[in-house]
Amino acid sequence: MNSNILEVRDLRVHYHTRQGAVRAVNGVSFDLHANERLGLVGESGSGKSTVALALMRLIKPPGKIEGGQVKLDGLSLLELSGEKMRQIRLAGIAMVSQGAMNSLNPVARVRRQIEDALRDHNAKLTKRERAEWIGELLERVGLPRTAAEMYPHELSGGMKQRVCIAIAICLQPKVIIADEPTSALDVVVQHQVMTTLESLRAELGASVILIGHDMGLMAQAVDRVGVMYAGDLIETGSVETLFKDPLHPYTRLLMASLPSLAQKEAAKGIPGLMPSLLNRPTGCPFHPRCPDAFDRCRVEEPTLQTVQPNRGVACHLYGNDSAGREAS
Ligand code: SF4
Repeated sequence: MNSNILEVRDLRVHYHTRQGAVRAVNGVSFDLHANERLGLVGESGSGKSTVALALMRLIKPPGKIEGGQVKLDGLSLLELSGEKMRQIRLAGIAMVSQGAMNSLNPVARVRRQIEDALRDHNAKLTKRERAEWIGELLERVGLPRTAAEMYPHELSGGMKQRVCIAIAICLQPKVIIADEPTSALDVVVQHQVMTTLESLRAELGASVILIGHDMGLMAQAVDRVGVMYAGDLIETGSVETLFKDPLHPYTRLLMASLPSLAQKEAAKGIPGLMPSLLNRPTGCPFHPRCPDAFDRCRVEEPTLQTVQPNRGVACHLYGNDSAGREAS
């Protein structure tokens, strides 16, 4: 039995500019299991948010999904008509993003904003059932039922983000994408909102893709992590193995750059800059910054390969890809 709720294969997204195509997502493949919490991490510009928008089919021109496959419970999302995809959003796959709370309609009460989402998706509820469901949704996200009669300006940032979560789960989707959902909030509220999100996920039996760059938050909130760099998925593994024993040189530097609580050190940062996605270096995109680069890295691009059970890495130092290191 296939326990994957989402299968992503060779997903490619380009932004077409006068200077040429910016390869924002460069052939990304991964699975999301039922009930799983997957984190996508990477520096800004690594392509993680573009993956989220592509899964929702919300890439806007000059961006374009150039190819690949996205299957939600067996349904090929990239082949659906625009109208069918609109119906799948919220009902099958929903997203809460960092800016979601600013997208609430300032002149509509919370009740109407949730009602609009339900009506837009032809949710078959009587008026009374709809009112009851909205009250229940608000309670589930940790808001009082009375919040239904409030306008967004009467709510704090954390409360607004809770309303956005209520809208995202109003049709009980199987997959929830959370793109830095709490980064605009203070640390205490962040923690509360993440706790709410996790208890909702468990209640709904949904799977979550959490996107972010805060490794501390990831360590607490996900089961498995995918690390992105320059539009590529370069390492995947369970949160424990990836934190204890990172394989890819970029992941190792990412882990080493984390501030140590014990030593109260500041974050060190990774030397060098991410390459231009307009002009990717030949070979491994990380080679200009990689302390372990050897000749082959400069000419041949590594692909993500399984090197241990449930562990993938795109680097010539590992697995079948490791040939040529000694020769250089
Ligand atoms: Fe470094 Fe080469 Fe591995 Fe790329 S393929 S991460 S350059 S060792």
